[in-house]
Amino acid sequence: MGGEAAHARGFAPHYQTMENLKSEIVKFAHLMYQKGYSIATDGNLSALRDDGNILITPAGFRKGEINENTLVVINQKGEKVEGTEEPSSEKWMHIYIYSVRPDVKAIIHAHPPYATAFSLQMPREYEPILPEMKMFIGKFGFVAYKEAGTLELAELVKEKAKKYNVLILQKHGIVTYGKSLSEAFNNLERLEFEIKIRALKNLFKFQL
Ligand code: 13P
Ligand code: ZN
Repeated sequence: MGGEAAHARGFAPHYQTMENLKSEIVKFAHLMYQKGYSIATDGNLSALRDDGNILITPAGFRKGEINENTLVVINQKGEKVEGTEEPSSEKWMHIYIYSVRPDVKAIIHAHPPYATAFSLQMPREYEPILPEMKMFIGKFGFVAYKEAGTLELAELVKEKAKKYNVLILQKHGIVTYGKSLSEAFNNLERLEFEIKIRALKNLFKFQL
């Protein structure tokens, strides 16, 4: 797929370079908070560096307020390599996804309201309804409830990430990922929109 026609259909390339990785994380963290996809200090973002280390948001920070100096670098063993803050409590979820998905270079964990309400459903695989969900993402997976920030949650996420491009975490939120932060954020927005539309359809019932 290439050329202008592909670009027009939304198949734009997702650029992610080492120079702009920190500013990209800050940009999408702020956007996530501004759009209400995570409240208070919820959610976390990461990007894989060329050296195999992971740039990740710090634990317990409001994502609307983080800056490049608060970001942390960890290695694949979960050890802090750079930074003054502690890395996100969900660092294992991020490390495990990178370990099973070599195509993934960025991950976002969020608590958007419609998808989080949907996460109260029984866990199972869901077929997408909207065309962009079908085209870009496919079926979405569902991770059974485990306490936030635990290795148990990270292990269940790792298994489901092998098969799905976006995940609902039962009674918690969502995880999306992609070749860049931009793609991971698009997947977040598309999943939240798909679930919002399902909720609105049930609300309106569309009787004339
Ligand atoms: P952190 O602030 O530690 O990244 O945790 C936020 C969160 O959403 C935990 O699930
Ligand atoms: Zn969370």
